[in-house]
Amino acid sequence: MNSFPARTQSAIEFAADLLRQSKHAVLLTGAGLSTPSGIPDFRSTGTGLWAKDEPLEVASLTTFRTAPQVFFNWFRPLASQIYNAQPNAAHFALARLERCGRIQSVITQNVDALHQKAGAQNVIELHGTMQTLTCSQCYHREDASLHLGAFVEEGRIPRCTRCGQVLKPDVILFGEQLPQAAWFKAQREARRCDLMLVVGSSLEVLPAAGLPMQALDRGAHLIIVNNAPTYINIRADAVLTEDAAAIIPAIAEKVFNG
Ligand SMILES: [Zn+2]
Repeated sequence: MNSFPARTQSAIEFAADLLRQSKHAVLLTGAGLSTPSGIPDFRSTGTGLWAKDEPLEVASLTTFRTAPQVFFNWFRPLASQIYNAQPNAAHFALARLERCGRIQSVITQNVDALHQKAGAQNVIELHGTMQTLTCSQCYHREDASLHLGAFVEEGRIPRCTRCGQVLKPDVILFGEQLPQAAWFKAQREARRCDLMLVVGSSLEVLPAAGLPMQALDRGAHLIIVNNAPTYINIRADAVLTEDAAAIIPAIAEKVFNG
């Protein structure tokens, strides 16, 4: 911890103080939390995933419905990275903070389930999940573990075990609404928290990007840990423009050991 510059160190200490004092802290996480685990940002350009295809087109509900093979060709490398990914030090530190009652709930824009793999309990998945798939015909929901291996390794398109129709991963594609229950829950948490900790999100994707504003409007404190500036940095109590995997364990350490 001594290796941080003085300014960073004091921001870490201030963030830890806010976490210690809060009664209901809520976490909001995005792609930047999982990039150290080897998962590229699902929605941003320059990750290699979008090298050949236009994201709005290929990662859309329309493409899934009209050209499933095109969709699954695009989806396979991403699925492979998620399938093989492990939580990083920040995921584990955040899960520990939750376990000890310092964080009440985890709102995430990520679909990789790395929070859960690290031991987090109360996770609200705003953009869906890779853990399940749903039949596009009979709506039967199936565990991804039944299909993901064969899809990632052999390219076999997942099909419903009941009716044989193509299964859609339960991740939110362009052109799809957020899962309603998750969105309502996230808004409720944003409005009732006294501290919101944003980690690894540039807050560019609506409506999730509006959640910190809802928290601030009700008097909550705001901490932002992200390696790029966000629109709301100016209103945050503490800003750490750094990699989450380096900073979050240091904040957690400070919360537990002073
Ligand atoms: Zn089916």
